[in-house]
Amino acid sequence: MEDHNLLTTFERDEESCILRFKDGKSFQVDYLEIRFRCRCAKCKPRQENEQRIVEFHEEISRLRIEKPSVEPVGHYGIQLTWPSGCSSGIHSFSHLRSIAEESGNEI
Ligand SMILES: [Zn+2]
Repeated sequence: MEDHNLLTTFERDEESCILRFKDGKSFQVDYLEIRFRCRCAKCKPRQENEQRIVEFHEEISRLRIEKPSVEPVGHYGIQLTWPSGCSSGIHSFSHLRSIAEESGNEI
């Protein structure tokens, strides 16, 4: 894993979070963007084709925006538990970094 992807801080706000990485870059990312790209066994198959992605996004967008609880997973990622929907998604730091760069706002 590239060192610059190392997540140093995960600050939870009401609808978004702030991710700070070891290389000094920080991004504000909506929780929705993270949920759209959840890699868990339940969500990942739903991102395999356009039609399923549209349905998946609609379903997640209808959920109330909630603050997840966060648990570290080894030295490579975090597990986010959402009060509704899925709760087993492990998000590697490199995955979070790509979400942040694609859909977050650098701050
Ligand atoms: Zn999931």
